[in-house]
Amino acid sequence: MRPLSDTGEQLLRDLLDASAALWNEVNYERLMRYNDEGGYENEDVWDADTGRLEGKYKGVLGASTAQQVIRKNSEAWRGFFENKKAYHDDSDTSVTEYPEPPGFWGNKDEGRKLHTVIRNTSYTVEWGERSRLEILVGSELKDRYDHTGRLRLEITGDPNWPEYEKQGRLDLWYDETDSTFRASQPVTVSDETRDTPLADEKAALDIGANNLVACTTTTGEQYLYEGRELFQRFRDTTREIARLQSKLEEGRYSSKRIRRLYQKRTRRRDHAQEALCRDLLERLYAEGVDTLYIGGLTDVLDTHWSVETNAKTHNFWAFKQFTERLVCTAEEYGITVEVQSEAWTSQECPQCGSTDRTTRHQDTLTCPCGFEGHADLTASETFLERHTEEAVRPMARPVRFEWDDHDWSESPRSHRPKEQRTDPSTVHRDGNVASGES
Ligand SMILES: [Zn+2]
Repeated sequence: MRPLSDTGEQLLRDLLDASAALWNEVNYERLMRYNDEGGYENEDVWDADTGRLEGKYKGVLGASTAQQVIRKNSEAWRGFFENKKAYHDDSDTSVTEYPEPPGFWGNKDEGRKLHTVIRNTSYTVEWGERSRLEILVGSELKDRYDHTGRLRLEITGDPNWPEYEKQGRLDLWYDETDSTFRASQPVTVSDETRDTPLADEKAALDIGANNLVACTTTTGEQYLYEGRELFQRFRDTTREIARLQSKLEEGRYSSKRIRRLYQKRTRRRDHAQEALCRDLLERLYAEGVDTLYIGGLTDVLDTHWSVETNAKTHNFWAFKQFTERLVCTAEEYGITVEVQSEAWTSQECPQCGSTDRTTRHQDTLTCPCGFEGHADLTASETFLERHTEEAVRPMARPVRFEWDDHDWSESPRSHRPKEQRTDPSTVHRDGNVASGES
């Protein structure tokens, strides 16, 4: 997003800053009640006098934006309580780290984080050659800048869904890393807008850390997304964070540098995961897949990995987030995702069915019956067979992909004709040495 003038930018900054101030005040009120009570349900947080705060801020923000900020904070608290419940529930393995209550937008040292949320009826978007966004602002702000009507902003970039039925609540923030204003607009699209599967083929995924995703389809295709380098960098950053934390003065829990590293780590992972979902689903769609099975990551972790690796991998994968992303992207292609939690198949020999005689060394699964194959690909194959109840015959050599910070591209080890790349200079040619992570 780009403001059209300096005054427009100042007005926008004031709006975002006031929204953050409101968020922080609401959050502070709730946090005090939460800490006071210390109990399990913490119903007290809902007693915070948000009506008074809405009244205080509606002049600057407009009533609807003030309400949306408060609502977003309520959602954050509800999410926190849900996570806390899941954390204490032994049968639910989706939350493994003790959840923290919602945080503040910004801090004392660095100031408030510029961010707001705008109700679906309080903004309009016009898509075209010069796309623009108009948002509602409060009367006090309008007076301050001698502005009339809504605030107009220029949009750069194209919408993912050019035709939508309904627009949702808009998120608008200042991205300090790139010194730019950004907005995110959720939309509802009709069923016709989505793709429909071309056939009724199936596919199954095996998820891990060395190989992020191993996939087999009933059409006989196999894909392998290599994760060693990404996982390695995630671990390095995690170590660096721990090192910096150990050097903090007593009573301090974080620093600007530590927060930056966390941010960097998360962004890098999210970027790679998002691109992986997109790349994989495009391929599956082209293969005519209509159903995708994924196994619960927890099973493989519990059985085969050490506690320490488990925790790190959980953190790295953010498995729940990844499956949600996968489900959302699959929806665009009309592909159904089924998450299956069942006894894990990764050590089962596809030739003789033995589970206790097989050995896994790095990526290779071997069995005394003579079988030898790629452990993760074999696992996805066995998993797929179990669900389709028919023999799966991989037709070609598996396609391997590597992450180069922008795209998942075919690895030199793929032994297949290379795909066209936009910028071949960015491919990493090293880092393929097995690190024995498993
Ligand atoms: Zn065997």
